[in-house]
Amino acid sequence: MTIQNFNNIESEITSFLSELIRINTTNPPGNEINAAKYIQDFLARDGFQSEILESEPQRGSLITRLKGTGEKPSLLLLGHLDVVAANAKEWSVPPFDGLVKDGYVYGRGAYDMKGMVAIEIFTLKLLKQNKIPIKGDIVLAATADEERGGEKGAEWLLRTHKDKVWCPYVINEGGGLAIPQNGVNVYPVQTAEKGILWFKVKAKGTPGHGSMPNTADNAILRINKVIAKLDSYKPEITYVPTLKEYLAEISLINPDLKEDFTKLLNNPTQSEQIIDEIAKKDKALAEEIRPRTKTTITPTIISGGVKENIIPSEAEAVFDCRVLPGQSVEETLDTIKGLLQDIGFDKLSFEIIQKHDGNESTTHTPLYSAITSVLRELEPNCGITPTMTTGGTDSHFFRETGSIAYGFHPMRPDEPIDLLEKRMHGIDERITIENLVFGTSVLYETVKRFMT
Ligand SMILES: [Zn+2]
Repeated sequence: MTIQNFNNIESEITSFLSELIRINTTNPPGNEINAAKYIQDFLARDGFQSEILESEPQRGSLITRLKGTGEKPSLLLLGHLDVVAANAKEWSVPPFDGLVKDGYVYGRGAYDMKGMVAIEIFTLKLLKQNKIPIKGDIVLAATADEERGGEKGAEWLLRTHKDKVWCPYVINEGGGLAIPQNGVNVYPVQTAEKGILWFKVKAKGTPGHGSMPNTADNAILRINKVIAKLDSYKPEITYVPTLKEYLAEISLINPDLKEDFTKLLNNPTQSEQIIDEIAKKDKALAEEIRPRTKTTITPTIISGGVKENIIPSEAEAVFDCRVLPGQSVEETLDTIKGLLQDIGFDKLSFEIIQKHDGNESTTHTPLYSAITSVLRELEPNCGITPTMTTGGTDSHFFRETGSIAYGFHPMRPDEPIDLLEKRMHGIDERITIENLVFGTSVLYETVKRFMT
């Protein structure tokens, strides 16, 4: 089999993305319906019928389907239409002009993730144009509201229109950008995400005069103890399958990391010390790995007190806690409460702000094999590894309902990785036209192999 290179779509995909960026879908407020309508018209030219579903006025998500024979399970190409805000003053080009310059398409969403939406749409279009005899349905969903948690997008769609959108297999954002290691490209496929537990602890006390500290019960001192206690907590180290496979893969590819990673892999009980050792050589790498081995609890907001001379009777702190796949947020909260028993537990109250469990998909699937076979054929020496992200995408809604979901937006690095990653949600976000074509070629071939 040979992999087709779609150089012929270059100008069409460039202008498609450029126009999509011009439709400002900054969330809030989102207004994704404008982008959904644009895509609907674009797909209609190839005979696709699509549906726009609104969770609220203006919060449109688009769904379309390419029918297969039903011999294989269906596959969802998932993407979000909303973007985060961009401050034009910080940018060197206007963030919503979709400017094409020096081989790049510039603008908010070029990378996260209108660029991938473009790749998914062109993949679907080309499969249809080339009359590929697909054995399973391919569904495309371009959704609202991912950047604010997906409640008015993917989550809502799954809750209210599951029959239209749910598939056993999902390809979404979250991975795919190759990271050069030891002279070869290593393509990460996102197979896992940490879960979220955002919670608030409120401490109560009794008020008094600031000049007479012993006559009152200062809530600030109590919340201080809560923070100190949670900071000193040493959570259990757990290696989920994704982390084990990642460490093993990188050990094979990068001789510089082989010793440390093999040691880490074989000695989970000494994980912290080994990561400390790695940090002495490569701090950034160590701190990439560390949160992937355990629960993290980070205080992010603290407030309390009203006046210089009043001892406050109330103070509160908000924590951003992240749990590993397989750990339940409910049990984690119970553990946290257990830790705080001896610091006036009856004067503490808890509120959950947002939560969902960690989630993971196995790599032992025909879709993962298709990804691997296509990449290996394109770049025989490349590395491919599953990865876990500490942040979340819409994939978790699908993994929670039983789908195998992979974050895979195939891209080759065209500038240093740290710069590329900074552009996401950052300044001068952009994507190369070369990567739009590359991404389409890889995704098209992957879907074709999986579906025929
Ligand atoms: Zn995104």
